[in-house]
Amino acid sequence: MDEKSARREIVQIGNLMYERSYVVSSDGNISVRLDDGRIVATPTMTCKGRMTEDCLALTDAEGKPLAMHLLIYQERRDIKAVCHAHPPHGTAFAVAGLAIDQPILSEVILTLGCVPLASYGTPSTDELTEAMRPLVKHHNALLMANHGAVAYGANLWQAFDRLETLEHTARIAILSRILGGSKNLPTDAVEKLINVREAAGYLGEGARCQACGYLHETRLACPTGDRPEIANYAKSSTNGESRISLTREELVELLSQAVTLKN
Ligand SMILES: [Zn+2]
Repeated sequence: MDEKSARREIVQIGNLMYERSYVVSSDGNISVRLDDGRIVATPTMTCKGRMTEDCLALTDAEGKPLAMHLLIYQERRDIKAVCHAHPPHGTAFAVAGLAIDQPILSEVILTLGCVPLASYGTPSTDELTEAMRPLVKHHNALLMANHGAVAYGANLWQAFDRLETLEHTARIAILSRILGGSKNLPTDAVEKLINVREAAGYLGEGARCQACGYLHETRLACPTGDRPEIANYAKSSTNGESRISLTREELVELLSQAVTLKN
């Protein structure tokens, strides 16, 4: 993409992120990698809903200000745009120490895959980028513990769409818990969706190597053999404890079984 189009799209996406409350005040940042390798990025301390095309900064690929963005561009040659924000429902998962990794929505499995949680690191430091590094290769969106979300894509609209899907999924997951809990798709349905997304070219075989829970339950092999059992991910998603969640019916069933056994 050329610089002029990148500046125009960044302002447009900044407005959308602000209107949708994915960012408030001067939160978040957006960048685009140009055809010549330079990066156009949003300035710090500026509201993303009130930017102008000439307030955006141009850096080279070694530039310092956006360590998180540079990490993603370094790890993924296919990525040309990054959106970082604090969308409330996605960020609630990040604050609760949870990944968005349950197979509850067919479209999300098809288009985004699961969203892991990188352990906490101080923003703008190596702590944060090192926590993210092992997750960037096989995922297109990440949560950062006690901070927010980042999504990236082959162009800025794809990066924004992925951020929006992340937030929408988190919102539905939270609402379904209020209604008594979500029901996961069965493993064979997940396998079929993964086959469909690969045949359609939505996500490649590399996405089988995602760190999230539900892909581990499928029989589909990870082509690189490095399906990550990532310490950061496992530790921060469960806080070192194994959690079990039951629906009300399952709990009643379990208790009545216990009572029957006692008698
Ligand atoms: Zn942030």
